[in-house]
Amino acid sequence: MAYLEFCSNCGEKNEFGNSEGRNRFHCAHCGAIHYENPKPAATLICPKDDYILLVKRAFEPAKGAWSLPGGFMELNETIEMTAERELLEETALKGKVKNRLGHCSHYNTVFGDVLLIGFIVFIESFSNLTPGDDASEAELFYIDNLPPVAFPCHQKFLDMYLQKINHKPGGKDKQ
Ligand SMILES: [Zn+2]
Repeated sequence: MAYLEFCSNCGEKNEFGNSEGRNRFHCAHCGAIHYENPKPAATLICPKDDYILLVKRAFEPAKGAWSLPGGFMELNETIEMTAERELLEETALKGKVKNRLGHCSHYNTVFGDVLLIGFIVFIESFSNLTPGDDASEAELFYIDNLPPVAFPCHQKFLDMYLQKINHKPGGKDKQ
């Protein structure tokens, strides 16, 4: 059975074509329109002094590449809950969302169309740091020595963060 082949409301076969100004799956039998939307995800900047926490991806896409911790929002949670849950799953660390850094939207990615919300997360103790779930490694990187990250939006969040803290490469630690 193909994706959205049948109407989830009445079980008849869907049609694909113009409905409310866009091509969508819709049901001529009961009139249901099957809207599809980008997926929201939380992406986390977890600083520790002049270091930022990165995780190495355990699975495709971009298996083996470093990325910011984070993941897709589940039902019955707020985006802040997503952020703290994903942190715990991927690093075994407990953190608190401190503030929102910004957003980055991207369409036609391997995950489909996504809307990433970037958060700055406060972590009291890094002593439990253990990679888990879809992370094979988790490590703190000095902000002037960050490896390439897997996704353009993650690089954008890193740039936004460095700008926010007014970090100049080779800055205050080298005085
Ligand atoms: Zn229907």
